[in-house]
Amino acid sequence: MTSKRQMSMVMDLNKCIGCHTCTVACKTLWTREEGKEYMLWNTVNTMPGMGTPKNWENMGGGFKDGKAQLGKLPSRQEFGDAWEYNHKDVFYGGKGDKTHLQIEGETPTWGPNWDEDEGAGVFPNSYFFYLPRICNHCTNPACVAACPRKAIEKREEDGIVVINEDRCRGYRFCMEACPYKKIYFNMEKGVSQKCIFCFPRLEQGVSNACARQCPGRVRFVGYRDDQNAPIWKLVEKYKVAIPLHPERGTQPNVFYIPPIGPASFDADGDIDEQTPRIPDEYLISLFGPKVLDALDVLKAEREKTKRGEKSELMDLLIAYRWNEMFGGFDKNPATIEWA
Ligand code: SF4
Ligand code: SF4
Ligand code: SF4
Repeated sequence: MTSKRQMSMVMDLNKCIGCHTCTVACKTLWTREEGKEYMLWNTVNTMPGMGTPKNWENMGGGFKDGKAQLGKLPSRQEFGDAWEYNHKDVFYGGKGDKTHLQIEGETPTWGPNWDEDEGAGVFPNSYFFYLPRICNHCTNPACVAACPRKAIEKREEDGIVVINEDRCRGYRFCMEACPYKKIYFNMEKGVSQKCIFCFPRLEQGVSNACARQCPGRVRFVGYRDDQNAPIWKLVEKYKVAIPLHPERGTQPNVFYIPPIGPASFDADGDIDEQTPRIPDEYLISLFGPKVLDALDVLKAEREKTKRGEKSELMDLLIAYRWNEMFGGFDKNPATIEWA
């Protein structure tokens, strides 16, 4: 499956503050209709953690020996169903002084950020970081390979993976095959739905809502082959942006700058710069062995700036000017006449 060009995103995990502004930006723009209540096309989870849907990394899918594998179909509860609150009593029922805002029905046992900020490790060397995720708009998408209706396609002009809802019959093989579990099922419409990489915004020169609204300046956007834009430099030139779970074989087009994490403390309580707080083995389990090379480059460039030397890479990652992060997709959405 080939596209003329490929849109992509790089997320710097050293800068994500877990504020969920990205999630809210996507939710308010794309998933407000009926049937989409539980959908979060953008999620931000604490790692190590179970993620969203719960335990998605162990649900299978992706490719094995070149063949798409059907993994587990995540349930609504595993995604974390949208909770119903007693708004009508508190705000409209005249009982505001007798009751308080609470969840209606059964007490939930799971939600999209149930294990937020728990992380792992033993005090004082406990650790966590935030992992924002969207559909990876893969070059070799397992969701496309698994769909018997040919209802999912990669757009020729930009490689964005979209679902044709007129062709979808709701078999949900795509949900089973996606190793990132980034497809949702709309029970009202009977079709699968997912992140559209904000293509209607990109077509107007406006970058993705989740990227544009990010206060941490975590997200870079652009074509992968645009050598003047940060994406190419981060992925191809410096090789510090790497995909999540590359072993699943889908060739993601969302890349991550791995988290360096703070220094550890030794048994005497002194700072131990040599032992990484976030274990290498854990990062390798997420990003593959290339994560170690990426971390080496990041640390070396950081040392350069400490010595007062210039580092193009550090300047790029600091992102002094937000509009230089988006590969030319930097128009103000307020200036566009939206259809
Ligand atoms: Fe398809 Fe999943 Fe890749 Fe998105 S992340 S393109 S849904 S296989
Ligand atoms: Fe949502 Fe657009 Fe971000 Fe996809 S790219 S998660 S559709 S805001
Ligand atoms: Fe992280 Fe940016 Fe999302 Fe906040 S908006 S959670 S900083 S990616």
